[in-house]
Amino acid sequence: MKVVRFLLDGRPRYGIEEGGTIRPIRGNPYTSFRVGGSTYRLGDGAYELEKAKLLAPCAPSKIVAVGLNYKSHAQETGMALPSYPLIFLKPSTAVIGPEDKILYPEASQRVDYEGELGVVIGKKASRVPKEKAKDYILGYTCFNDVTARDLQKKDGQWSRAKGFDTFAGIGPCIETELEPDNLKLETRLNGELRQSSRTSDLVFSVGELVEYISGIMTLLPGDVISTGTPSGIGPMKPGDVVQVKIEGIGTLRNHVAA
Ligand code: MG
Repeated sequence: MKVVRFLLDGRPRYGIEEGGTIRPIRGNPYTSFRVGGSTYRLGDGAYELEKAKLLAPCAPSKIVAVGLNYKSHAQETGMALPSYPLIFLKPSTAVIGPEDKILYPEASQRVDYEGELGVVIGKKASRVPKEKAKDYILGYTCFNDVTARDLQKKDGQWSRAKGFDTFAGIGPCIETELEPDNLKLETRLNGELRQSSRTSDLVFSVGELVEYISGIMTLLPGDVISTGTPSGIGPMKPGDVVQVKIEGIGTLRNHVAA
């Protein structure tokens, strides 16, 4: 099942996308809901709706992102593989949805894409062992961990480099029926393939991340764990189009603007 969130008559609504149509639901996907009401057909473009605009499929209270979680990315940055997950927070105010603009901040000369698998938490999770992690996950989405690479190096800690408004692309949907351990992940810039990997190359698995992070902070419904990026990171410039595609989920597309 593909859960989407979209604007309808100016109000955010949840829906289920199937075969090119979105069916709005009553309630929300974290508790119980029923499918009903009108059906809205997808337009010709990727996730362009005739009557509604797709939003980020969840509204997280926080995003917990993982650094250096692919061996290939650790190698390209020249950093040693961590012996435990290296985590940082991205603010809820950084979230954008499909087709939204990534805005280049004046403070940075180099803004990078980082295509990642996002894990959307389905219910309140505290001290969850990895064997039980799936019970606390609603599903999976595409995530772009947009990063001001120059500021990341300059600051030493990452809140500024990772926290600008529009630096957290999420979407286009939450796929609830998916095994996360061996999915193809691709990032394209202006149609050109830049990152290509599989989640089987993750250093720490989804279950291990849920166990580690929920042992530190309580995760709430809608919170996102972004599981790290593979090799192939690189800069974007205003006018560029960036796409993160994950097998079984779909493609998240965003536009870079000054
Ligand atoms: Mg990242």
